[in-house]
This record gives sequence, structure tokens and C-alpha cells, in this order.
Amino acid sequence: KLIVLGSVNVDHILNVPKFPKPGETLSGSNYKISFGGKGANQAVAAGRLGANIQFIAAVGNDELGNKIKQLLNNDNINTCSVACIDGQNTGVALILVNAQGENQIAIHAGANAQVTTEYLLKYKEDIISADAILMQLETPLPTIEQAAKLAKQHQTQVILNPAPAQTLSDDLLKHIDIITPNETEAEYLTGIKILTEQDAEQAAMILHNKGIETVIITLGSKGAWVSSAQRGTIIAGFKVKAIDTIGAGDTFNGMLVTALLEGKTLEQAVIYAHAAGALSVTKPGAQTAVPFRNEVEEFLEQ
Ligand code: ADP
Repeated sequence: KLIVLGSVNVDHILNVPKFPKPGETLSGSNYKISFGGKGANQAVAAGRLGANIQFIAAVGNDELGNKIKQLLNNDNINTCSVACIDGQNTGVALILVNAQGENQIAIHAGANAQVTTEYLLKYKEDIISADAILMQLETPLPTIEQAAKLAKQHQTQVILNPAPAQTLSDDLLKHIDIITPNETEAEYLTGIKILTEQDAEQAAMILHNKGIETVIITLGSKGAWVSSAQRGTIIAGFKVKAIDTIGAGDTFNGMLVTALLEGKTLEQAVIYAHAAGALSVTKPGAQTAVPFRNEVEEFLEQ
């Protein structure tokens, strides 16, 4: 069994010709609401890709929060540990996109901030008995640290997608079995700007030296640097026509962990994850773009 511990967000996206100045009101177009949050995205990916998954998260106890919980349920996710919290809104991101495609984003963690260490302990037994736990960094750090320690103590494999980028304590890193930064996050964690394979190798080494067995640095369309027991190599991705790369990393992580839990080797699991990630960039949105398992299998057979 897989546990995903993470965030749920609702993105409100509006295209504007330019960003408004303080006090200015502008008309936008193309208003979209999309369900996201790295936790929910990765849970949806794991659910659609065939994992037996339980999601630990929190949403607001209102129409929207309850609807999101139902949608997650429809994606084969056990949501008994998704709390609907009174007096809290579901996490939100207000996103303006200008004509140049740049964005301005304001977020409110809302119910995500209620995923506290105390809340986590309600699901202690689930974490202890799980095969793996997958986390990101949109949940309060003390909760992530506690979950990592608890899991590691009980041989539950700990996978951290360290996104969005932030600095992490050595004490957290030493409890991680597999870490999956993208290039920006790898630079944040190691101080090394990833331009070449040598840079990726050096960054991976720094993370190995913090006690992490497996380091996978995702490199967008180039694939990933995959390093285990201090030895690394590039595993190339698949060539597709990318139309929207939002959520590629989330799909990658969901598929990676699902494949590993099925007993695939690290290399095979990364190839599956590349296939799922590549399929996700051929469609718009985050959760809407996550493929189903049969689509990944068909893609790999081509
Ligand atoms: P993030 O979305 O977290 O920034 P990356 O951009 O590194 O992460 O992408 C994660 C994975 O998604 C890649 O390792 C690859 O498997 C897949 N991917 C991302 N962009 C593309 C692309 N343009 N073409 C094919 N695969 C892609």
C-alpha cells in the first residue's frame, strides 16, 4: 500500500493583457478553475496508474472541499484520511497570467495548514503498515519530518518530491530513501546549477552524502539523472509534442512510486514514469492531463 501525504489546492486562473498596478482594475479572459495541489496531483496520478493508495490531506468543509474529496475518491483513492475542516477554506492559488505567459500567484494554504503533526498521528498505524509514503513540500514541514521519521523507523519507504523548492534540514534528508528534485529544486538543495551531466552527478553526490540512497533529478524533456548507491546515469525521456508541462513532475512521481511498489527495477520504474510524464505534457492542466495506466502501457508498446 502507498500513502501520499500532501496538499490540495484550487487554482483560479485568469489571463490578463498585463498585470494590474496597485489600485488598478483590469478585465481578464479565459477564467478557469483547476484542481491541483502537488499532493492531490500525485495522489491522482498514483490512483489512475494503478496503486493501492491512501491520501492524507485536508480540505475545507464546504461544497468545494466535499466535491474535491468525492473526485479523489472516483480516482481510486482511499480518502478516509482526507479531513473536511470546519471554518477553513480549501487551499487556493490565485493566478494571473499576462500576455507574455508570465504569472503572478498568491496562495493561501487554508486547510492544508491543518495537516499538523497531531493530525498525522491519527494515521500512524497506516503509515507504519504501508510499503511506501510519498510527500512533497506543500504540507507543514514539521509534519513531513515526523512522517519521514515514523516511516523510516518502520521500514516504510520514504519518497520525497522536494517541491516547491525550499531548504531542508540534514535531519529530514537522512530519513529519505528516494528524492526526486527537478533542476531548480536540485540547485536549491545543493547549490549546484544543473547545466551538464557532471553537474547532475555532483548534485546527486551531495544528496547521497546526506544519507539518501536514491537520487532522481528530473530534467524535463531530457529525462532524468538517476543515481543509486552513488552511481548515476541519464535515463532519457520520450519525445512528444509538449503543449503544457504543468503537473509533469507530479505524474512522474505518481508513476515512479506505483511502478516501484509493483516490484519493477529502478530503471524500469523511471521509464514508466517518463512515459506517464510525457503523456501528461501532451494535454492541458494538471489532474486533467494525468494518463490512465492502459494509456501508459500502450504508449510503451509503440
Ligand atoms: P517538474 O514538472 O517538476 O518541473 P520536469 O520538468 O523535470 O519536472 O519533468 C518531470 C518529468 O516529466 C521528466 O523527467 C519527463 O519524464 C517528463 N517531461 C517533462 N517535460 C517533458 C517534455 N517536454 N517531453 C517529454 N517528457 C517530459
